[in-house]
Amino acid sequence: MANYADIVEKAKSAFNSNQTKSLHLRKHHLRQLLKLLNENSSDLQIALASDLRKSKQEAVLFEIEYLKNDIINALGSLESWMKTERPDKPLINIMDDVLIHKDPYGVVLVMGAWNYPLQLTLLPVVGAIAAGNSVIIKPSEIAPATAKLIAELIPKYLNRDAFPVILGGVEETTLLLKQRFDYIFYTGSTSVGKIVRAAANEYLTPVTLELGGKSPLYIDGTVNMDIAVKRIIWGKCINAGQTCIAPDYVLCTRQVQNSFVEKAKQLLKAWYTDDPKNSPDFCRIVSEKHFVRLLDLMTNSGSIAVGGRHDKKDLYIEPTILTDVEPTDPIMKEEIFGPILPILIVDNAYDAINYINSRNHSPLALYVFTKNKAVIDNMLENVKAGGVCVNDTVVHVTVENLPFGGVGLSGMGAYHGKHTFDTFTHRKSCLVKDFNIIGESFSSAKYPPYSDKKLSM
Ligand code: NAD
Repeated sequence: MANYADIVEKAKSAFNSNQTKSLHLRKHHLRQLLKLLNENSSDLQIALASDLRKSKQEAVLFEIEYLKNDIINALGSLESWMKTERPDKPLINIMDDVLIHKDPYGVVLVMGAWNYPLQLTLLPVVGAIAAGNSVIIKPSEIAPATAKLIAELIPKYLNRDAFPVILGGVEETTLLLKQRFDYIFYTGSTSVGKIVRAAANEYLTPVTLELGGKSPLYIDGTVNMDIAVKRIIWGKCINAGQTCIAPDYVLCTRQVQNSFVEKAKQLLKAWYTDDPKNSPDFCRIVSEKHFVRLLDLMTNSGSIAVGGRHDKKDLYIEPTILTDVEPTDPIMKEEIFGPILPILIVDNAYDAINYINSRNHSPLALYVFTKNKAVIDNMLENVKAGGVCVNDTVVHVTVENLPFGGVGLSGMGAYHGKHTFDTFTHRKSCLVKDFNIIGESFSSAKYPPYSDKKLSM
């Protein structure tokens, strides 16, 4: 096992010796990352296909191009992001300089997730580099081909001491977390998020935790059902449902359910044929452990209205819709993270809100499908969620000006676009005075001897 103390020490030395901080170096490192993505796109696609049988379209759109756009945006905006801010000053400081300086934290640890193993590892890295930090990069071992390729490629393009990559699983992560970092950014499950936060507490290290949970979707009868079904099934089927903000379950009336299921059946056939197993566009479950978990949820909850076929050898689960689901069914007890969509019957939006709020886990995403503005307002007002998307799924994460993150058990902190830069930047408050006699006279009341007269000045 690598010597983690030594790796962190080298990253610290690189930071302290100004190998990451200047605008010039930040831009250089970002350009190198862009070059890495441009020059290795096909190898990255092969690795993603090996880990998740990700199609070229999903690999390019949701991982490689997504990252490239983020880097290009950071390169274009970096100077303005880094600019020292000069907030309004109170009268007493009229002669002084009042500044907010944008400091990098120092050595940050980024722990990626396996479901979008390239994007979710490197997107925080882009912001951490833009903010001038050294970054220790820990890809997820659960997507081993992508993790290995990241570990091979990063040292070819970036300074090895400032941007080391660490591979490994639970044992390695446990040891790594004993080191002292200046910031930790973790993407993954809520249970491991708690472990990361507990480890960070040792040094009061600030953390961003991008976690998960069940993201509910409410749909009523006012919608254009053809479009709604496309947007919902797409959000559930990309990456075979292994998306942290995939719609986890649907809440609707029985009448809406019938129309939804009928249209979804036709749509799935049109997209993936009668046998989605042979479609090149449909991903696989990441591991046997996750396959077995999903199969257990599917076979012990409600009844299968669409899909249900599976193949353990191929880690394949067909896009599946479950009806007759009860809140007590296993599928409603945990985040699904697979291509299974249960439908729970409610009478109206009010019931849906009550159900969502009765769970103790605020969702990472809330989806509302309706043309009724009062329903939208009601949902926005009354449901606590990391983010909300009305009349579509998943795509709110592509709006880079919107901070992406959870609330409560679905996470803390947020990123994307400038928000990632802000995450990895300490806003250092600075008050700079001189020895001007007039300025000094403004403060004369603060010095002893104290008196009632000075108190009223
Ligand atoms: P996980 O969270 O269990 O594992 C992630 C990493 O934690 C692994 O690399 C593993 O080595 C490490 N780990 C596991 N147990 C550990 C321990 N005891 N001590 C130290 N390290 C440990 O992975 P998962 O549960 O398969 O991830 C899926 C979850 O991640 C879902 O809940 C999903 O919603 C969430 N997620 C969230 C986002 C987001 O952006 N918010 C993105 C992707 C996934």
